[in-house]
Amino acid sequence: MEVPDDAPENCPVCAAAYDSVSRHAEGLMVSLQETERYGRVCFDPVTVDGEARIDFYHHTHEQA
Ligand SMILES: [Zn+2]
Repeated sequence: MEVPDDAPENCPVCAAAYDSVSRHAEGLMVSLQETERYGRVCFDPVTVDGEARIDFYHHTHEQA
C-alpha cells in the first residue's frame, strides 16, 4: 500500500472531506459492515507512471 503525495484536498469522487487516503495496486477486500470509524469509502482509479492504481478515500461518519 502506498500513500499518494499528490492527493487532493477533497475526495475526487464525492467532493467531501476525507479522513485518510491509500493507494493500492492489487485487489483487496473491503468489508461493508458498519465500522465505528468510517462511514464511506470512495474508490478513484488513477494511472501512476503508466500503471493502474486505485486510490481509496476513507470518510468518517461525520464526513459521509
Ligand atoms: Zn468520497
